[in-house]
Amino acid sequence: MEKIVALFIVPTPIGNLKDITQRAIDILCTADVILAEDTRHSFPLLEQYGILKPNLISYHDFNEQQKAEKIVELIRSGNMVALISDAGTPLISDPGYHLVNQCVSQGVKVIPLPGACAAITALCASGLPTDRFSFEGFLPVKEKALYDALNKVSKKDQTLIFYEAPRRIIKTAKVLAEIFGDREVVVARELTKQFETFYYAKANTLEAQLLADPNYEKGEMVLMIAPCKEETDSDLVKAKELMGILLEYTSQKDAVKIASEFCKVKKNLLYTEALKMTD
Ligand code: SAM
Repeated sequence: MEKIVALFIVPTPIGNLKDITQRAIDILCTADVILAEDTRHSFPLLEQYGILKPNLISYHDFNEQQKAEKIVELIRSGNMVALISDAGTPLISDPGYHLVNQCVSQGVKVIPLPGACAAITALCASGLPTDRFSFEGFLPVKEKALYDALNKVSKKDQTLIFYEAPRRIIKTAKVLAEIFGDREVVVARELTKQFETFYYAKANTLEAQLLADPNYEKGEMVLMIAPCKEETDSDLVKAKELMGILLEYTSQKDAVKIASEFCKVKKNLLYTEALKMTD
């Protein structure tokens, strides 16, 4: 292929080495420089695709900000640069954000390629709604932060997707049971690999289901939680209380809007309640 002066975002496989496009290989072969999260990790992968002696530069979380400026200059001076991460799509829980942000703000062309991403691959086979989903990245490790993070998103009416480490999943499953009760959850482990496994469970049965598999701790995993369908009674009670106060100061429309957003209760339900309150 001909050289194109730009930053290319190039996804690499998340397990199965065949999951890379011909266009991605062409770009990696042609690029003047390949930015890799871990050069030692990427070298064998590149060799596998016949990309011999690539000009690899390390680009990871710890040097991202300082290096971004130099790389923008490198592209400006006529180089074709490709960004890869250890696995999957760069920038998705992987380095690259600062670089792309600087390229965009300085008018340097960024060309993204489609490709492997664990979150999307897992979602597609989860059986959970795919029309709206929220990618939440890695769950926090510390207990309080974990509760806070899960509580914060528990009322979203969209499928929740998290990256989680298998060694922490049992602890997380206990918290899931407390917060989500019998909500559907799915864990996808070792996607695209020989021992790919899906655990379809409820939040309060996930722990038992994982423990029944002696291999549950092996490899990598994606955790997904079904959308919140119903407002809980306590949300509705809180929303009604809040509307009672708001209606003294503002219009019915605004009271409904604010209470709906604040208490995460659907607007149409609150309109009915507001009508009863102002009758
Ligand atoms: N950029 C990657 C992507 O596009 O999916 C994600 C990188 S993030 C550092 C790594 C996390 O992605 C893992 O801890 C795991 O949660 C998830 N992951 C990556 N490969 C996976 C696989 N083959 N099966 C299940 N989860 C995977």
